[in-house]
Amino acid sequence: MFDYLIVGAGFAGAVIAERLASCSNKKVLVVESRHHIGGNTYDYYNDDGILAHKYGPHIFHTNSREVYDYLSRFTAWRPYEHRVLASVDGMLVPIPINLNTINQLYGMHLSSPEVETFLASRAEKKDRIITSEDVVISKVGKELYEKFFKEYTRKQWGLDPSELDASVAARIPTRNNCDNRYFTDKFQSMPLHGYTRLFENMLSHPNIKVMLGTDYKDIEGEIPYKKMIYTGPVDYFFDYCYGKLPYRSIEFRFETLEMERYQPTGTVNYPNEHPYTRVTEFKYLTGQKHPKTTVVFEYPKAEGDPYYPVPRPENAELYKKYHLLAGALPNVFFTGRLATYKYYNMDQVVAQSLTLYKKLSGDTKNERPINGQKLPTYES
Ligand code: FAD
Ligand code: UDP
Repeated sequence: MFDYLIVGAGFAGAVIAERLASCSNKKVLVVESRHHIGGNTYDYYNDDGILAHKYGPHIFHTNSREVYDYLSRFTAWRPYEHRVLASVDGMLVPIPINLNTINQLYGMHLSSPEVETFLASRAEKKDRIITSEDVVISKVGKELYEKFFKEYTRKQWGLDPSELDASVAARIPTRNNCDNRYFTDKFQSMPLHGYTRLFENMLSHPNIKVMLGTDYKDIEGEIPYKKMIYTGPVDYFFDYCYGKLPYRSIEFRFETLEMERYQPTGTVNYPNEHPYTRVTEFKYLTGQKHPKTTVVFEYPKAEGDPYYPVPRPENAELYKKYHLLAGALPNVFFTGRLATYKYYNMDQVVAQSLTLYKKLSGDTKNERPINGQKLPTYES
């Protein structure tokens, strides 16, 4: 008899498994439908010996000391600050849009206060910021919106920015300074030996058993357990009883090239040309030295593995219905990006599962909020 059946061996499942096993001496079975641990952060050495991320580039960044310290128990780190260039008007310019971007794009030499005035003169006042289009146009105006955001977003989501919540484009700030970094979080680093090694360290505990290549529905009823933690897609759990929640997928095309460097920075975004959105060269992220290099091209698509919840009002409405069903189950707990239908980064998912653990270990098993109350989560 297991105390917990945990569905999914990504960050959401692995964190809660580790906490329950190490701190509460619970016997835990982690069931994972894929043939590996790590969820979407899984990395591996390819045939040429280059460390690559199977499900697209994953860069760790957080403002939470608690999350960083927690993960530091399972990995050493390699400091890494991600930089991204966007291919616009035949140039490669920094994104997020900053002082350097504007000066390079328009051949100017503005100072910080001048660029602020420049952007303010182009920004269009909006009474209410509701959509991703509102967010960008109200900060930088239509022209820059069209150069950097409109087509990238249409490719990535299959939707116009005017059809997506403000929160999506709001992930990308606008800066008046020369900071070319993609993220400004306090902690920015990559697991020194990769994510998979981090997960191996997390899950190697005598109280944890991991079963790979198994959908939990195939073993339900056969393996006894007391409670379940579910980190897969929430609509699948309920057999799509209210219909399918849209998740955006991506096809990853990997290429290994006979050259040491392919591009000038970790990621290059292609808002306006090509069917792919971005190209990432892993050696920048991992620091690996190798005479060859591996890059990944991302082609967004509707069907396929569920990678991105799609933040827009009608999907939030549909999710709310599943959330009510989930809240009414006293012995099943939902955590993670797919199970709570939230566009979370890795650190937010780690924080969400740490919070769930605190709740479970506080002997609150019969106090699970019913009907729509949210678990407290960390927002970066
Ligand atoms: P997942 O990693 O999806 O894990 C869920 C696991 O459950 C999966 O392994 C799945 O196979 C398994 N599962 C599902 N259903 C079942 C079932 N029925 N039975 C058994 N197992 C099941 N975040 C960052 O912080 N930085 C980044 O740079 C970054 N880049 C990203 C790039 C891409 C292309 C994508 C898609 C995401 C990126 N993220 C990034 C987000 C990050 O991947 C997620 O926040 C994190 O991996 C979510 O962890 P999770 O455990 O909730 O979900
Ligand atoms: N985005 C864009 N142009 C860019 C970068 C981002 O339009 O050059 C928009 C796009 O809608 C994207 C969102 O901002 O999906 C969030 O970007 P982020 O890089 O955070 O996406 P992720 O890494 O999660 O795929």
